[in-house]
Amino acid sequence: MNKYQVMFGCSITLIICGVLIGMLGFLRENMLIYFGIAALAFGLIMLGNWISKAYTYICMDCYLRIDVGVKDALFALPAGGVCRRIYCPKCRRRTACKARRISLRVHMY
Ligand SMILES: [Zn+2]
Repeated sequence: MNKYQVMFGCSITLIICGVLIGMLGFLRENMLIYFGIAALAFGLIMLGNWISKAYTYICMDCYLRIDVGVKDALFALPAGGVCRRIYCPKCRRRTACKARRISLRVHMY
């Protein structure tokens, strides 16, 4: 178990807890809803952070390797299969980019 697996586990747990707590707060109409939203948002940022570290994207037009930020990792539109629409700085437009898993073992210490 390395820190990236921990990070992934934590973010998923936060998102699930955030939804549950938020729903509870919604049903009871109390402050819990804000805790739920905060946990959910934090979980999403963490997940986006994880995706941006765990995956790299290859532009299918020019084969440029693109490292996505947290925003693109979360909100880039899917483009069929493992492809997503990500802005390519070389093509200067959003292109279908293929996701490639980065071996995280390299980062272990
Ligand atoms: Zn490109």
